[in-house]
Amino acid sequence: MKRLILALFAMAAIGAAQPALAQSPATLVPNAQGRIVLPTVAAPLHYDILVRPDAAKLTFSGSVTIDIEVKVQTRTLVLNAADIGFDRVRLAGRPDAPQIALNPEQQTAAFTFASPLEPGLYALHIDYRGKIYRQASGLFALDYDASSTDGKTVKQRALFTQFEPTDARRFVPSFDEPADKATFTLSAVVPTDQMALSNMPIVSRTPLGGGLERVTFGQTPKMSSYLLFFGLGDFERIHRMVDGVDVGVVVKRGDTGQAEYALDAAAHILPYYNSYFGVKYPLPKLDLIGGPGSSQFFGAMENWGAIFYFERDLLIDPRIATESDRQNVYIVVAHEMAHQWFGDLVTMAWWDDLWLNEGFASWMENKVTDHFHPEWRVWLQELESKQYAMGTDAKAGTHPIVQPIHDILQAQDAFDDITYSKGAAVIRMLETYAGEDAWRDGVRRYIAAHAYGNAVTDDLWREVDAVSPRKITDIAHDFTLKAGVPMIEVHEGGCAGDRASGRLELSQGRFGLDAADKAPLHWTVPVVVKGNIERAKTTLIDGAPVSVVTNCPSVVNAGQTGYFRTLYEARAFSGIASRYASLDPDDQLGILNDTGSEAFAGYAPMADFLDIATRLPADANPVVEEALVGQLGGLDRLYDGLPGQARFRAFAIARLQPILARVGWESKPDEAPNTQSLRSSVLATLGRLGDAEVIAQAKARFQALVGGTTLQPTEREAVLSIVAVNADPATWDQIHSLARDAKTDLEKREYYELLGAARDEALAKRALALALSGEPAPTTAPGIISSVSRLHPALALQFVDTNWATVSPLLDSAARGEYAPRLVSGAADPALIDALDRFGDAHLTPSALGDFPKVEASIRYNAVSRAKRLPEVDRWLAAHGG
Ligand SMILES: [Zn+2]
Repeated sequence: MKRLILALFAMAAIGAAQPALAQSPATLVPNAQGRIVLPTVAAPLHYDILVRPDAAKLTFSGSVTIDIEVKVQTRTLVLNAADIGFDRVRLAGRPDAPQIALNPEQQTAAFTFASPLEPGLYALHIDYRGKIYRQASGLFALDYDASSTDGKTVKQRALFTQFEPTDARRFVPSFDEPADKATFTLSAVVPTDQMALSNMPIVSRTPLGGGLERVTFGQTPKMSSYLLFFGLGDFERIHRMVDGVDVGVVVKRGDTGQAEYALDAAAHILPYYNSYFGVKYPLPKLDLIGGPGSSQFFGAMENWGAIFYFERDLLIDPRIATESDRQNVYIVVAHEMAHQWFGDLVTMAWWDDLWLNEGFASWMENKVTDHFHPEWRVWLQELESKQYAMGTDAKAGTHPIVQPIHDILQAQDAFDDITYSKGAAVIRMLETYAGEDAWRDGVRRYIAAHAYGNAVTDDLWREVDAVSPRKITDIAHDFTLKAGVPMIEVHEGGCAGDRASGRLELSQGRFGLDAADKAPLHWTVPVVVKGNIERAKTTLIDGAPVSVVTNCPSVVNAGQTGYFRTLYEARAFSGIASRYASLDPDDQLGILNDTGSEAFAGYAPMADFLDIATRLPADANPVVEEALVGQLGGLDRLYDGLPGQARFRAFAIARLQPILARVGWESKPDEAPNTQSLRSSVLATLGRLGDAEVIAQAKARFQALVGGTTLQPTEREAVLSIVAVNADPATWDQIHSLARDAKTDLEKREYYELLGAARDEALAKRALALALSGEPAPTTAPGIISSVSRLHPALALQFVDTNWATVSPLLDSAARGEYAPRLVSGAADPALIDALDRFGDAHLTPSALGDFPKVEASIRYNAVSRAKRLPEVDRWLAAHGG
């Protein structure tokens, strides 16, 4: 392929007229599968790219030579390009400049030649110009304050790229679809005093004078365009050799002390993955690269060999990092590293199967984390993600895990909790059913069969079934091709009077929160049943009721690895409730979540949930207790503005105070790690519930913090969240000063977002105005508005509607469709559905509205819960002396 590139550079010396732009844009039409994709007449083999960024002017110029295979005779080559200006387009060996037709909506550039191109190999050379954005799309800049050698604050700018799903086309005209894999060689003209980064190490440097040099990175393996990366800035890198790979963490100069934790995590994880996947990590280096700021859309991105993280997901600042921060960094490192195989080495053929990347990585992050840190109980924590996914999956607007994606805007919608959390939960269920070893062996076969290529979901099932004694494909199809949540109903038969042996009748239905209009569905469900004196047994339920011999009472979905709800009829429920305090934490949490969700949906009385809530023992696992804290906090939010709230709050405070009495405000050296996270949650929730003593304590501790006292990280987090919600103008001003004076970017952003948390509406309005004042960094502003939306959703939505022209450029292109719906997703006021619709009509194209039905279903459901379930709670509280 080099041969064609040389011929092309010879061509460039001839010089030719500027390309003519066609009058009418070429338009892509749906293919046989209904997808708007590039024509298949040509495919890329290799890209040779040179970029010259002008960071100060936020522009860059580039040139690329693409080795292309033309498969069918054609006059026109269509590539993806967005916000790209074309200076010169030439095909090596042909004198004619093509006509160029741009289609900004479909983000394509079509090059039409005077005579047809016969099948064969070509080199297409393009000189072009592009933009450097201020948000994480394409090539983007992040600004921050740094200290100069004389101690003064100086403004610094670093550059990074973010291409998934469809923004590589903002960096280089390209075949920007995941199945168009090619190799890449990237060169860049950069300042000699900055560090340039890409997927591969630098292989050559050429001084250019004037403080500039040209760096060339090694050629990548064959990969999808969305995995290409370029970064440039005043960075430092710490690194270590692990299994023959140079593993590094790259941060802003001065931050290396906060990078060691992530480097340790990566060094732990790499050998585990090398062994698990059966293929060694194939690149010579693996960098974890931190950038200041934040995105409304993502925290980290798995660019092959050059993973990008916003600092919150990478750095651990010992002064302020909490236990949950440490767990989060470890888990995000594990997630992105899993993608180096699942996603980068083997990539989904199209965005329909995005879950193959994300569901798998979301499962694998827990697998490896549980291996190295069993004390974190990540599988137990993961039940909360499953609970959240089931909430979405049981409402209108849900979709199957594998979903048709027709165009690039829909591709952005695919990054949701069904793809990630349901995907991960279904994989856990399948792994449990197949067995750990069979599942791993199937994964190894899948990776080996599709390395450097693309795959679809069925390729994975086929490889697992080839080695698993228990076949998974039927179960897998049911859970990935159908939307919705199964519900296994449990009836006790023959247990009365003889609880040592008995029978359970299990039947299947569909758990729906608003699904009255939906057709009933059936799934093939593996159900694990465990009596209190026997081993667990697995039964497949695929429609007809099944009778299981067991002792009573039995836990259905024991271990909680199944993706379904369990509904115990009254007699079975009272049996399980009487045993509740002695169950494993996983089953305690599963039953708490199922009972709560079923009660809210009207399948069971609210009394069952409140009964379970009062039975959780005082020494329960902190993860289970934290879930209860969250449920009581959620109920309180639903009560906002209703007369029953005072009585509910008295009940909830009485329920939570013993937890606080046990965990206290400050950490103890011998406590379980998750106790810290529980402490933070219980304090924040008691603050929200109006516990006067907790609020007074928090205010006193906050004044100590302002006065210079160092608080423990968890204590600090809780104190800040309580005073921010309950802020008066003087407190708000103090938090504002902390934001302005904060030493690190992470801390600064945290304080600015806290300014949006106030319950006082006048302060919420001040926070909104501040967000767009230019004072906070551009990537911080959307976070402040999101923070306001938690207690003032209508206000936040109205503000974004009025100021969309200013807010929209502050969002990553991928986040524009989902930002406004998220602001109101927790609301219970149906008027916001109309407001959201008006917003969508006014500001977004129809294909960017994918999240709207989900959020509108959520608001509708919250409104029904408020109207129907809270009176049940009121009655229970009255009956129980509340
Ligand atoms: Zn991911």
